[in-house]
Amino acid sequence: MLPFLLSLLLLTGAAAGVQGHDDAAARRTMEEFAGFPASDDGEGGRASPLRVDSESLQRQIDELASFSDSPAPSVTRVLYSDKDVQARRYIKGIMKQLGLSVREDAVGNIFGRWVGSEAELGAVATGSHVDAIPFSGKYDGVVGVLGALEAISVLQRSGFQPKRSLEVIMFTSEEPTRFGISCLGSRLMAGSEELVRSLKRTVDNHNVSFVDAADSAGYKIHPDDLHNVFLNQDAYFAFIELHIEQGPILEKEGIPIGIVTAIAAPASIKVEFEGNGGHAGAVLMPARNDAGLAAAELALAVEKYVLESGSIDTVGTVGMFDKLAFIF
Ligand SMILES: [Zn+2]
Repeated sequence: MLPFLLSLLLLTGAAAGVQGHDDAAARRTMEEFAGFPASDDGEGGRASPLRVDSESLQRQIDELASFSDSPAPSVTRVLYSDKDVQARRYIKGIMKQLGLSVREDAVGNIFGRWVGSEAELGAVATGSHVDAIPFSGKYDGVVGVLGALEAISVLQRSGFQPKRSLEVIMFTSEEPTRFGISCLGSRLMAGSEELVRSLKRTVDNHNVSFVDAADSAGYKIHPDDLHNVFLNQDAYFAFIELHIEQGPILEKEGIPIGIVTAIAAPASIKVEFEGNGGHAGAVLMPARNDAGLAAAELALAVEKYVLESGSIDTVGTVGMFDKLAFIF
């Protein structure tokens, strides 16, 4: 018998609406929100007090990329590893340089707050992650954290004084690399009891528990602490995340930025096929029972189904074919 494991990854609803073609509307929105005149680059256009220091931002992105368990230009920074701890220290260092008030919760979500003049109001927050899957690039997540810190810096340099507090958040473990749980930090902030229960028994591939791994990174978690990560409902007034495009569409069309109107809701299933091995010269087609071919048929059926759905932003793909075992 020749069982095959077919791991099937279905991704749905991943499109981003793009408003890059309507520059005037985008400018109006930016100006309304910021209370400042918007300027593309400040050269020849209207003067703006807001000027990003892109050189310093790029330098920070490059420095952060050096905390990696794989050689440049790739980045590997797995949750609670030494490199992750170094990256966390680096981010907290910048937050402190900017005079933000820095706190960390039990699982290491990091918050840098610029306290507003009406501090009792819900904060406006932005942020992303700096953990990186093996051999990833240096921009995923990082742009949303370092970019946010640069945005704070720009506002500070311009003399802006926030009414609501502004906060930069570095979320713990957006990537599922170590414990198979994606968006771990933000899901816990959202109040997932189910996640609290599973974190108490979760182990990684080396049988290190979540709690022990966190401990090794300096987060001593008492299981009851996990509830303290939950946010109050009115903690934030608004949240926005800046993120690189992880597909080819904007780049291909030469559009510098897109505004997301829908979000991916990935779901995956594993399907196991069992068949019978047979001598390729002697067991003829009518008698064959090939697991691999059945799996291939399902993979093609999924593709066909998605293509025929008429939805341009639904994706169905087969992530992995894995031969489990020969059983004689
Ligand atoms: Zn990301």
